[in-house]
Amino acid sequence: MTEPEANLSKTYDAVIVGSGAAGGMAAHVLTSHGLQVLLLEAGKKLPIEQELRSMEWPYDNAHRGDLPPESHALTFNEYTIRNPPYGAGFEKARHLRSYVGNSDYVKNIVVDERENPFTGTNYAWVRARCLGGKTNIWGRLALRLSDYDFKAKSRDGFGEDWPISYSDIAPYYDKVDLYLGIMGVKENLPHLPDGIFQRPQKLNCAEVTLKQSLQKMGRVLTQYRAGVTSEGLKHNKYRSRCYGRGSCERKGGCDIHAAFDSPTGLIYPAMDTANLSLRTNAVVREVTVDPQTGKASGVHFIDAQTMKDYTVRAKVVVLAASTLESARLLLLSKSRSHANGLANSSGHVGHNFCEHIMGPGVTGRAKDLVGKPSTLDDGRPGGFYLTRFRNLSEKHPKFIRGYGFEGGSGCRMFPSGTDVHGFGASFKEEVRKNQGAYIGMGAFGEVLARYENYVDLDPVVKDKWGIPALRFHYKFGDNEHRMAEDMKETAQEMFEAAGFEIVHVRSRVLTEGWSIHELGTARMGDDPKTSVLNQFQQSHDVQNLFVVDGSGFVSASCQNLTWTIMALCWRSCDYLADEFRKGNL
Ligand SMILES: Cc1cc2nc3c(=O)[nH]c(=O)nc-3n(C[C@H](O)[C@H](O)[C@H](O)COP(=O)(O)OP(=O)(O)OC[C@H]3O[C@@H](n4cnc5c(N)ncnc54)[C@H](O)[C@@H]3O)c2cc1C
Ligand code: SF4
Repeated sequence: MTEPEANLSKTYDAVIVGSGAAGGMAAHVLTSHGLQVLLLEAGKKLPIEQELRSMEWPYDNAHRGDLPPESHALTFNEYTIRNPPYGAGFEKARHLRSYVGNSDYVKNIVVDERENPFTGTNYAWVRARCLGGKTNIWGRLALRLSDYDFKAKSRDGFGEDWPISYSDIAPYYDKVDLYLGIMGVKENLPHLPDGIFQRPQKLNCAEVTLKQSLQKMGRVLTQYRAGVTSEGLKHNKYRSRCYGRGSCERKGGCDIHAAFDSPTGLIYPAMDTANLSLRTNAVVREVTVDPQTGKASGVHFIDAQTMKDYTVRAKVVVLAASTLESARLLLLSKSRSHANGLANSSGHVGHNFCEHIMGPGVTGRAKDLVGKPSTLDDGRPGGFYLTRFRNLSEKHPKFIRGYGFEGGSGCRMFPSGTDVHGFGASFKEEVRKNQGAYIGMGAFGEVLARYENYVDLDPVVKDKWGIPALRFHYKFGDNEHRMAEDMKETAQEMFEAAGFEIVHVRSRVLTEGWSIHELGTARMGDDPKTSVLNQFQQSHDVQNLFVVDGSGFVSASCQNLTWTIMALCWRSCDYLADEFRKGNL
């Protein structure tokens, strides 16, 4: 693959900021329409296979996969008792990472918190600044949204409906499935539409027991719908099919790229069209605006290593820096014609910020599996997904919207149950005989999109490149806490009904941000007074500006976001290319 250099003296058809799921998809779609595109990425291009080392055995790693001693990753308790900007109290650590950065394999992928500070309310903000962004380490659960989500306000009166329906986005979900590969089983559920699935992985014994028990309760457990190709993709020479080595369980990361990541899935194929140029280490700090027309004219960026300033011109600007970073860029891009920040005549940029609440869950033991021979359960890119069952056909008295559970069971390289008392041969025997019997699951629930949950710019604190930091004004509300209470109760009930011995029930809610599913800071809508983008993620105010990441989501749903980010982005970029051709941008 040749990597064309960026030519800063030229005016590109489009400049894309950010190379994760959204930026990669924008690059794929726009270059396939023949546009000349420049992709700017703040982070490095890492030698990713050497970082992930999916085939490395724990005993071949100097720290058994843990962080080297000079680094520290924040823990739940630290997020609870410390306030952002995180750093004070950790002076001994040369590098400070978010909670995800607690392994040797991701230490260079997630950012150093001190170089990238933020302020305000507590938030476990996980950022990956490198080519591909968070897709290098994502958890791979690839779900669709439905009209239960897109038209949620019409059902329960809260918030806003999306300006699109499932029928608008369904063809684009299909395109994403076929282009990137997804494993799963069809279930025919109106609230969790099926995809075009490749060969699914198998459920193991305890998971089947739970599935059958749930059927009696009218609830559905399905195989983990993984954004992984099990059968291979003939059109993509950069990715292999899944060999079921299971190391993606180590915080994601598949060094043969069976699991989707943006560079091999989208960016390298886009480069093969010869229409894409890439510049890494390009920290965009502002979208520039033509003072005559008020339209976007390009971006200013700083070279992350030399600290030099550059400008690049483009006919269309596409922000894909992730939900919070794109909002930050809009707020940073103030000018005479956009005094309140770019695309912000509604005052909604940074607001309606939402995500998923997580924490409650349960661990159990299938007694009939204790003492049974070990099985190879590690070799799967995921366990199961227990789909939403609240507020579908009936109304819960205590909260609106819903939640689902992610879970799994079986024997692992690092087995469950090593916290039992004892030592020596009897300890090993105890761990061995129980390990395959453990089963666990944790919930992900919808956080309501509320105007009063927002981010703005900190007036004082700046990042390593002198760019004002984001300030959070964000807390879970009563609906989320009541939902979390229900998650804990139903998790326990369902395990009891399946006949599992309950080992542990988790009731604590994890710090805001823990789900890594930030959404909604520049929501779509038909009314420019109450929304930032139209249904094609095009700014109402600036017609040649698009924001194609999770910023445009109107509500969070409880399903994972990445497949929807990419389907929406594909739809918006088809529209963009069409408008570009007609000379409307
Ligand atoms: C451990 C983990 C598990 C996850 N599990 C799941 C899952 O199971 N299912 C799911 O759907 N999602 C999951 N996610 C979330 C998923 O990774 C994100 O939804 C997805 O990556 C979002 O894509 P994005 O393009 O918006 O942002 P990102 O992937 O974060 O990419 C944004 C890119 O923009 C760059 N950037 C930021 N600011 C600038 C700037 N100023 N200038 C230039 N470039 C900039 C960043 O460096 C980054 O590369 C998980 C994430 C993590 C970390
Ligand atoms: S299980 Fe499959 S997707 Fe996961 S790391 Fe192994 S090959 Fe990659």
